[in-house]
Amino acid sequence: MAVNKEKYHQLIQTFGHKTRLVAVSKFRTTDEIMEFYRLGHRDFGENYVQEMIEKHLLLPKDIRWHFIGHLQSNKVKFIAPFVHLVESVDSVKLLMEINRQAKKIDRVIDCLLQVHIAVEEAKFGLHEEELDELIEGLTAAEKIHELNNIRIVGLMGMASFTADEQRLRAEFKQLAALYDKYSPLQTANIRFKTLSMGMSADYAIAIEEGSNMVRIGSLLFGDRPAKGGKKI
Ligand SMILES: *Cc1c(COP(=O)(O)O)cnc(C)c1O
Repeated sequence: MAVNKEKYHQLIQTFGHKTRLVAVSKFRTTDEIMEFYRLGHRDFGENYVQEMIEKHLLLPKDIRWHFIGHLQSNKVKFIAPFVHLVESVDSVKLLMEINRQAKKIDRVIDCLLQVHIAVEEAKFGLHEEELDELIEGLTAAEKIHELNNIRIVGLMGMASFTADEQRLRAEFKQLAALYDKYSPLQTANIRFKTLSMGMSADYAIAIEEGSNMVRIGSLLFGDRPAKGGKKI
């Protein structure tokens, strides 16, 4: 399947320096990824630990790998040495494990907290109250000293799978409001600069509502092959 370079150039041009593009490469081959790499692209997003490890092994080491899928604590150790940004942190437990693994190898790992903004229950992420609790807990003095190897740099969210623009907009607004609420809070390891929202179908609305990082797969790589049919 041919990748859409024209679309890539068009997106990069419209985004300028204001919006970062993460090319979501789940189920895509290393050859497909290399097509964008050769155009100068470095930020790629993956949903599965095993797949990201394999691609990291095979591909140039200056690729910035964003982990955007559901991350289990017991798998953190496999990606800790090279992951650029974990966009999908949804529990204190996971955060502590990322910190523990990062400490072992003397790294500081940037993380986004994933917030549940969609009405669909199936999507992952912290509910608003849980986000508040987590951030309160982290700002408590002892915790800050404990967690020297992670840095929370913002929020990530996925809107509902719907064509209803009003609804999408409302969900992005909700996330942007939370981002604005916590942006003034600057501690040793909380410093917001990234609001990751928007995918192929809804990125334009997300950007209008304040997103500065979009995660785009199918617009760049074409329709996604079915899970299981993947060839790396
Ligand atoms: C797959 C995925 C994307 C990209 O979706 P497209 O609709 O192909 O752009 C973005 N974010 C997350 C979290 C994903 O799982």
